[in-house]
Amino acid sequence: MSAPLQPPLVQQATTPGRGWVTRRQLTLAAVALLALCWGFLPEFTVVLLCYIGLYALVAAGLVMLTGVGGMTSFGQAAFVGVGAYATAWVCTSPTAAAALSGVVGAGALPWLGLALGLVLTFALAWGLGAMTVKLSGHYLPLCTIAWGLSLYYLFGNMAFLGGQTGISGLPPLVVAGFSLASPRALGVLIWTLLLLALWLLHNLLDSREGRAIRSLKGGRVMAESMGIDTARYRLKLFVLSALLAALSGWLYAHLQRFVNPTPFNINIGIEYLFMAVIGGSGHLWGAVLGATAITLLKEKLQDILPSLLGTAGNFEVIVFGLLMLLVLQRFAGGLWPTLARLSQGFFKPAELHRAASAGALPGHATLATRAAVMPGQRLLEANKVTKRFGGLVANSDVSMYLNAGEIHALIGPNGAGKSTFFNLISGVDDLSEGEVRLMGNVMHKQPSRVFAEKGVSRTFQHVRLLGERSVVENVALGAHGRAKSGWLAAMLRLDRVEEAALLAQARHQIARCGLADLADAPAGSLALGQQRLVEIARALAGHPAALLLDEPAAGLRLLEKRALAELLKQLRAEGLGILVVEHDMAFVMNLADRVTVLEFGCVIAAGTPGEVQTNSRVVAAYLGGADAEPEIGPKGETEIKP
Ligand code: ADP
Ligand code: MG
Repeated sequence: MSAPLQPPLVQQATTPGRGWVTRRQLTLAAVALLALCWGFLPEFTVVLLCYIGLYALVAAGLVMLTGVGGMTSFGQAAFVGVGAYATAWVCTSPTAAAALSGVVGAGALPWLGLALGLVLTFALAWGLGAMTVKLSGHYLPLCTIAWGLSLYYLFGNMAFLGGQTGISGLPPLVVAGFSLASPRALGVLIWTLLLLALWLLHNLLDSREGRAIRSLKGGRVMAESMGIDTARYRLKLFVLSALLAALSGWLYAHLQRFVNPTPFNINIGIEYLFMAVIGGSGHLWGAVLGATAITLLKEKLQDILPSLLGTAGNFEVIVFGLLMLLVLQRFAGGLWPTLARLSQGFFKPAELHRAASAGALPGHATLATRAAVMPGQRLLEANKVTKRFGGLVANSDVSMYLNAGEIHALIGPNGAGKSTFFNLISGVDDLSEGEVRLMGNVMHKQPSRVFAEKGVSRTFQHVRLLGERSVVENVALGAHGRAKSGWLAAMLRLDRVEEAALLAQARHQIARCGLADLADAPAGSLALGQQRLVEIARALAGHPAALLLDEPAAGLRLLEKRALAELLKQLRAEGLGILVVEHDMAFVMNLADRVTVLEFGCVIAAGTPGEVQTNSRVVAAYLGGADAEPEIGPKGETEIKP
């Protein structure tokens, strides 16, 4: 394809050579500085840093859950409580401690406490998550408040957990013979674990699984159409963030050496959420920034306010709330993005994926491909498909089929039911009546990810991309089902060969769609027509047998349309079956092998372009109604002749 393309509206950080350090270098320098200073920092600062580290662990989980995954939880403090109480109980309860210390030695009890805390949290989060993460809108946050409160009261009402008084006398952690009794010693472990967690989460986000997690925010329909089991990913993300909270709770208990219910109350849960949101909810370092900002702010307010306003009221809560409002008003995306923007000139641009992947694709990194389809094989078949939305019949007895190696156009005025039909044959919506077959198999009530797995890729009439992510990431999402690496492999960077193959595949498809120059630009910065091309590239990355395109040429300029037509012809020659909805009649009639015409949800004509163009019902449908005319296509492109 050689269509001239617009320059990217946003020049990505690809301008080389400016700035002093890379972000990674600065991070390493900051960590080294912290490590060097650690022994000399005043006690008070060390304690503060310990708490910041603990809070940041929880906030990092919330960044993943809320900022990246789009699920809001007010209840994280309860999971911190589970982690804290589990170790407190194991270490101090006469029954558990006595029974276990004989077996493992007293020094190992906290580690058993950690194991118990993580196992309990895992089970609890899985159970609660299975019930709640399915909920959408405000029901999910409300539910997190409900179980957050329940757990809090549970802690306070269990006699064996010490009731409101709690449990005291926890032993310090011992690591390789060193007692971590002082905050200075334990702080090293806290920050090591925090940095480790951030590294693992960063790796996770920078992977196939990370893209899938990010896609949750793009909406269920899009993600499922990429073959992603959204319910499962939401649940896993929920469990992951709960485990981070439990880890924080375990460390907290051994820092404090006692636990009581207060720090696990819902208002602390809200504070954790504040940290994640204020810091910049989509950014892992935002968790550290948010935890630091809020911890210091609370600290300062507790110092300053009593002298200003007296000790009569609990003023810091009020001032705290007002400040939150102000920050969220002023910096809707949190502090981290603002900070990143202000400091942009300071940093050298990070190496792009291109350097790591393009051209350097290891020979053995093959992605799963679909079993070959035979030329002319029946891919999709709809038999008397009917879809009702309440009283409205959007599709009525629609039958059609799509073979490998052909382009089939579905046309009709706006509201004729074309997009509805697309949804039915891609599993996005369930049929009211009739059946859809894919490669001969009846797809009764199968979710769209099963269609995707079996070789159906689609684009959407209303573009569904992750606007903030790069074009290449969006397209790589389409190839999700062709790779296997899981969360752990991604976290430990064991997926790099496969990841390189995925990204190379994505770049290949992007180049095919004529967008090579825009591959690293945020998808949202592209013109709408180009975003449609990104969707086509994303669909192709899935290596489909059947490609469903809903108005792919809308918004494209003439040369781009020609290039698209060339691409579709080439794909047809490669054996793909392509079903395309399009209003531009010149485009459709020159391209399609067969055309099906819908009107008011019914098929009014089907056949070759020549047959359809001379069909009187079609002509009437297009030219008869005054309001139908403008929808046929932009000026001069309507070429149905009577
Ligand atoms: P087309 O893509 O041909 O323009 P659509 O398939 O989008 O038409 O819509 C067909 C009819 O179904 C329209 O009248 C539309 O309002 C209706 N419709 C589509 N989706 C829904 C829905 N989810 N709920 C109710 N009505 C819908
Ligand atoms: Mg439509």
